[in-house]
Amino acid sequence: MENPSLDLSIVMPVYNEAGNLPVLHAELKAVLDRLGRSYEILAVDDGSTDGSLEVLRRLQREDPHLRIIRFRRNFGQTAAFAAGFDHARGRVVITIDADGQNDPADIPRLLKVMEEGDYDIVSGWRQDRKEPFITRRLPSIVANRIISRTTGVRLHDYGCSLKAYRAEVVKNVHLYGELHRFIPALAGWMGVRVAEVPVNDRPRAYGKSKYGISRTIRVLLDLFTVTYLLSFSSRPMQLFGLIGLGLGGLGGLVGLYLVGAKIAHGILEGAEGFRAYRIGTSPWLMLSVLLTVLGVQFIVMGLLGEVITRTYHEAQDKPIYAIREIIEPEEGE
Ligand code: UDP
Ligand code: MG
Repeated sequence: MENPSLDLSIVMPVYNEAGNLPVLHAELKAVLDRLGRSYEILAVDDGSTDGSLEVLRRLQREDPHLRIIRFRRNFGQTAAFAAGFDHARGRVVITIDADGQNDPADIPRLLKVMEEGDYDIVSGWRQDRKEPFITRRLPSIVANRIISRTTGVRLHDYGCSLKAYRAEVVKNVHLYGELHRFIPALAGWMGVRVAEVPVNDRPRAYGKSKYGISRTIRVLLDLFTVTYLLSFSSRPMQLFGLIGLGLGGLGGLVGLYLVGAKIAHGILEGAEGFRAYRIGTSPWLMLSVLLTVLGVQFIVMGLLGEVITRTYHEAQDKPIYAIREIIEPEEGE
């Protein structure tokens, strides 16, 4: 990891936000210049097709703090964050949406809390969200509860993009899929101190949201992945093996019961009763076989998991994005 040479890096994923960029950039610049620290704004153009790149280039002519990372195609918000983190030179990295929903005016407060409390992550918390309740806020409340409980990193608003991280935190999480929402939880392994700060939530000015209802379901599935990754990924056998032993054991018990029942009938009712008690047609036999087979499968799955985990940890360097070019400002370093 290169040494951080700046105080702050703002990481901003951009996908078709041409209309929003000029206003947001002006707001950001006003706030950051007033802070009196060295900073850079890393705009990651995630394959925009609406002229966002041209807008960024135009803004860059007036602003030597603005660096543009241009993706070869649309890789998604997580990849954009990852590229920003990889190229960030600041000691503190702040993530923000490019659609103007996050308010740059909240940034000084995030930093103040981080520094005064010696926190590693300070998360924005949209207490007064402007989005629809059923499709956005409700699923998000449920997801935040589950992820807080299972990971032990308690936050009310994982989904809020406006967050401040110490650089070593974001440089040590491997992002893929759509896991950017879970960065604080994924960073939990290194032992992070986390704080929350209420932030402003504004409606989008131009363009529309890049996500539909399907995201709710995908986030839910990601929740399983993250929970698994954080609790069992280095020891899958302890999860699958346990389930396997449980099911297999139960199957064995049911089988024993069947044999025992047949013998008991023999003792109580003689040879006639022994013959009359048919194991082969008993529904319990089906259950016993099913449980035993399932048990074996779970144990095998655990073994496979162990092997895959080894591979996974050794093959983690695969990039999740491809950069077309990095457009540096003309002045500056
Ligand atoms: N975004 C991106 N790549 C994508 C989708 C979104 O870089 O494939 C950016 C988008 O430009 C915005 C941020 O991620 O800056 C959040 O997206 P959006 O506002 O659509 O999400 P919402 O606020 O509706 O959850
Ligand atoms: Mg948005």
